[in-house]
Amino acid sequence: MGRTYNIVSIPGDGIGPETNGAAVRVLEAVSEKYGFEPRITEYKAGGCAIDAYGVPLPGETLQACLDSDAVLLGAVGGPRWDMIEAERRPEQAILGLRKGMHLYANLRPATLMKELGDVSPLKNPGNIDLLIVRELTGGIYFGKQGAYKSTEKLFDGTRKGTVAFDTETYSEAEIERIIRRGFEFALKRSKKLTLVDKANVLSTSRLWRQIARTLSEEYPEVALDFLYVDNCSMQLVSRPASFDVIVTSNMFGDILSDLAGQITGSVGLLPSASLGNPGMPGLFEPIHGSAPDIAGQNKANPIASILSVQLMLKLHLGEKDAADSILEAVRKTLADGARTPDIAVHGDGDAKKITLVTTEEMTDRIVANLE
Ligand code: NAD
Repeated sequence: MGRTYNIVSIPGDGIGPETNGAAVRVLEAVSEKYGFEPRITEYKAGGCAIDAYGVPLPGETLQACLDSDAVLLGAVGGPRWDMIEAERRPEQAILGLRKGMHLYANLRPATLMKELGDVSPLKNPGNIDLLIVRELTGGIYFGKQGAYKSTEKLFDGTRKGTVAFDTETYSEAEIERIIRRGFEFALKRSKKLTLVDKANVLSTSRLWRQIARTLSEEYPEVALDFLYVDNCSMQLVSRPASFDVIVTSNMFGDILSDLAGQITGSVGLLPSASLGNPGMPGLFEPIHGSAPDIAGQNKANPIASILSVQLMLKLHLGEKDAADSILEAVRKTLADGARTPDIAVHGDGDAKKITLVTTEEMTDRIVANLE
């Protein structure tokens, strides 16, 4: 066999094993059709790694990821591990992988698929097809944080008690490389780039704006505009179809992409790609978490994970035909009326066509529709 790829699979916690299992099945099926070999090895991270090894991100998992061509991740976390101290929580596995693999660019496409009928909770969503380019290894999630007992008082004499703090820090180099990615994607799409920030309040945001303006001189074909994040949340609801590429910081991207997930139907539909510099391994995962409320019930929508494989093949491994085949199979399956509960809730144009399916049945149908 010619093309082989070393893929690390990290199922994680909650629905992670269910949705990542679906993604692995689709990857194996499509690879047979398109003549490449994914060599898949499974590793632990998150809550299950805490249970097995006492740490959320074992060194051997990170090393395997660094040695791989690509990583396919389910999700981590859950109430079982919520009381653990901050440095050992399952979510540290995700932050550790992003930092350790230098995955600074997180791409989160959100498209309203016409096959889903009126699944969007918006009355007139229009043709939503946007890409959120989120900075992933800086900002407030990685800045200095802590908590201390304060002896100070509020104006009315109330003792402050414990004070906690998180710090948003960004360097010029970190901002420049992610905004550049934004411009590059905008060039390949409809040549519109929106920088989302909070420049009226935050000095980091003002640095983002300054760098974006300077870089825009190198990309004269791209129309650059700016929106405050609070305004952007409103505009994403009132005129989502007018957005194309959004570039933004770690926390704003995290929040806005859940909103993008909801207006396009469900967080269970949205994939993501996390990339570093060219030639480095990438990480592909759904934008959703471990959904403890539906874990183990065969109810989770596997499409976000399956489309994460599609992004991996298209953006990272150069297997474009196989990637297109996955997207077509997902669209056909939805057009045929298959719905997991999360995308059946808002009703659908033709209710007679709709069949409620499990995670496994949705995956079976997508595999069967691969051409
Ligand atoms: P979540 O995304 O897990 O769930 C939010 C809601 O969306 C829930 O009602 C859930 O049932 C639903 N949902 C999520 N994925 C779905 C799917 N594929 N199909 C159908 N419905 C789906 O977010 P949360 O509840 O805020 O977090 C739960 C846990 O996941 C927490 O421990 C959190 O820290 C963790 N988390 C992990 C990641 C990650 O691993 N990258 C990301 C976000 C949250």
